[in-house]
Amino acid sequence: MPAITGNHLIGNQKLATSTATFTAINPKTGTPLPAMFYEATEKEVDQAVQLAEKAFPIYSQKSPDEIATFLEQIAEEILNLGDTLVERAMAETALPQGRIQGERGRTMNQLKLFASVVREGSWVDARIDNAEPDRQPFPKADIRQMQRPLGPVGVFGASNFPLAFSVAGGDTASALAAGCTVVIKGHPAHPGTSELVGQAIIQAANKTGMPEGVCSLVQGRTNDVGEYLVKHPLIHAIGFTGSYRGGKALFDLANQRPNPIPVYAEMGSTNPVFILPNAMKERSEEIANGLAGSVTLGVGQFCTNPGIVFLPKIPQSDNFQQVLADNIKTITAGTMLTAGIKNAFNQGAANLKNSAGIQTIAAGKMEATPNAVAATIFTTNFEAFSKEADWAEEVFGPSSLLINTSNKAQLLQAAKDLAGHLTATIHGTEEDLANYQDLFAILERKVGRILINGFPTGVEVCHSMVHGGPFPATTAPQTTSVGTNAIKRFARPVCYQNFPASLLPIALQDENPLNIWRLVDGEIKK
Ligand code: NAP
Repeated sequence: MPAITGNHLIGNQKLATSTATFTAINPKTGTPLPAMFYEATEKEVDQAVQLAEKAFPIYSQKSPDEIATFLEQIAEEILNLGDTLVERAMAETALPQGRIQGERGRTMNQLKLFASVVREGSWVDARIDNAEPDRQPFPKADIRQMQRPLGPVGVFGASNFPLAFSVAGGDTASALAAGCTVVIKGHPAHPGTSELVGQAIIQAANKTGMPEGVCSLVQGRTNDVGEYLVKHPLIHAIGFTGSYRGGKALFDLANQRPNPIPVYAEMGSTNPVFILPNAMKERSEEIANGLAGSVTLGVGQFCTNPGIVFLPKIPQSDNFQQVLADNIKTITAGTMLTAGIKNAFNQGAANLKNSAGIQTIAAGKMEATPNAVAATIFTTNFEAFSKEADWAEEVFGPSSLLINTSNKAQLLQAAKDLAGHLTATIHGTEEDLANYQDLFAILERKVGRILINGFPTGVEVCHSMVHGGPFPATTAPQTTSVGTNAIKRFARPVCYQNFPASLLPIALQDENPLNIWRLVDGEIKK
């Protein structure tokens, strides 16, 4: 039976030397949950990173099949945690059983998907330019390139996905898939869940013959633990999901190092929604109902939550607002993940509510728990919105600001004024989409994912997904933190010039022993 010890998992050791402790709090009751957790010391973080460095040359040379088997075994061990994991995650997050079970499935499938990518092998982007010794006026050398893992990396667990974006979440799965060793800082809101999943990873590592230190977990409630990790000279990259404040602080810290490192921080956004005139005329009710569900899903605690919605000034928009308001008033949004997140939501919602030029059109019902909040819908117009940049900032939780625009020019101007976001959504008929083609060109430069006639919450884990976007949505707009392309964040191209065949990595050998797709003298082939 898995047990929560409160210790850090540093390789195969369970230890904690600090006297500074903390407990997990049940957000529904406000009461502490069993087990005492310890603030990791700088020495403990160093021990974890040193072990990751020692493990790296061994792990990074494992075959694709061995790494894939390890990832699949992690998924198996997570499932083996059974109800212990589900119950602890529910108690630490206030998320319902169905959501936690669904997230567990998503986490396992994500690990298996990365396993399939590693096993197939072509992700290494092997390129071969054969030598041309007789080329005039100079001979051409034999030049080959492939992606190789960066080294030990640090991953921060996110609060809002205790499984899928936490200890064995997308960042860890993609880093391990790339061949990196990983030191994880668990999110202090769910340390018990983190420890259970950390135990599952270490169990999987031992069962599949991975070196000790391939993955370690340190915990802590202060910024210090994260800072030790980001500043550690042997850490080569950081994966992070959370607030703008946290992500930007860690990004700045990483850039101040004598040897700066990439920080892949996904910091959320307000995910603008544009409802075009004919869609509003034909489907105002349907879109309003869909939006109410999307705004309140998971108590609004999704980085893809639709926080701003642009409407055309036509009579049907009044119906849309009425249906949305009526719907929101019937919804009990639920309990937020932590007291801090609830306070930040209430503060953000109060700022909007008290701003001249904004009206509150609906407030939902509240659960009787200490960290419950009410879903809220606000409205304003383009003229007021365009003067107040902070109204477009994320209020993490179940709220949305509707912005009435008078004409197409205003709607396009609103799109041009947007900062970077993860997603943009357009509701339009065929005729609308033809009439608003210029909107797409603007949005392509503003977001990582554009959706038509859908809602941004719900991020499919697949090969084509982009969960990223220009700053301030992320600190690395050329990447994604969800989907198989996320693996590329933890690798870099290495070029091998004039290497004898016996020294070449297997993926670059002439015989193509791994049978992967490669670019050979400019031609993609196996
Ligand atoms: P957070 O405050 O950004 O914290 C995330 C992680 O980063 C935690 O482990 C935190 O550790 C660490 N951290 C934050 N600032 C740090 C710093 N300056 N130095 C070192 N480590 C630092 O996010 P959160 O706790 O999940 O929630 C707070 C707010 O984040 C929410 O109200 C919401 O606005 C936003 N959020 C956004 C998303 C999204 O996907 N967009 C997801 C979750 C949260 P410590 O707690 O130990 O400092």
